[in-house]
Amino acid sequence: MKAIQQPWFHTQRIRDDLYCITEPCYAWQNRANLWLIKGRDADLLIDTGLGVSSLKVYLADLLDKPLKVVASHIHFDHSGGCHEFDEVYIHQHEHQALCSGDQQMILSAPECGFVPDSDFDSIPYQGFSAGNYAVKACPQARSITDGDVIDLGDRAFEVMHLPGHSSGSVGLYDLDKQYFFSGDAVYDGELLDNLEDSVVDDYISSMEKLLQLKTDEIRPGHYGSFDRRRLRQLVRQYIETRKAPLCPAEN
Ligand SMILES: [Zn+2]
Ligand SMILES: [Zn+2]
Repeated sequence: MKAIQQPWFHTQRIRDDLYCITEPCYAWQNRANLWLIKGRDADLLIDTGLGVSSLKVYLADLLDKPLKVVASHIHFDHSGGCHEFDEVYIHQHEHQALCSGDQQMILSAPECGFVPDSDFDSIPYQGFSAGNYAVKACPQARSITDGDVIDLGDRAFEVMHLPGHSSGSVGLYDLDKQYFFSGDAVYDGELLDNLEDSVVDDYISSMEKLLQLKTDEIRPGHYGSFDRRRLRQLVRQYIETRKAPLCPAEN
């Protein structure tokens, strides 16, 4: 029998205004980075984890202002806790699916096979079983689109639509400090473009957009953070491997 792990989450304070929250007992390959950014008038939470333990309760001590929550995209490792929060945003292409709790789009349906018991080293509560896992519907979610701005008072984040991994994937760009929160559009690991809603051509276009981005600090949806040099390497690597077999004339 597996042990119960509480608190379920772990917080790393990166700076006074930036925290990374993770779920350490969940398989590291799928474990998402949840980013909490403190602003003057509001705080911003990017992604909400699996939703198997209350993130809202866990974060209560860190939250002293209204909280805006953005799901970088709909997959369960990012959107699972959204239902707990009042002000939740997701790209318009995945908005309906999050509102209704579409487990196929969320990739949490048992037949998708993405959430096995073996991915949990410990469990969040007595009786937890991955077989019964489902992401709760979030009917209060609001829709965002490319170019929208999430304003925290003294800083603001621009929504960049970066489809490819999923149709509603977004990144958030700190307009002042030029930090970039990339979700699953780019991280320092194997990028996934063979999922239910992935489109390789869209992914290539999104990557080309990222080549233009002025940033020196990338905070991804999985694995460690990196700088512009590594961003460009990862982006170029992806474009090269995906373009080569399709467009021999461009080689
Ligand atoms: Zn994903
Ligand atoms: Zn993910």
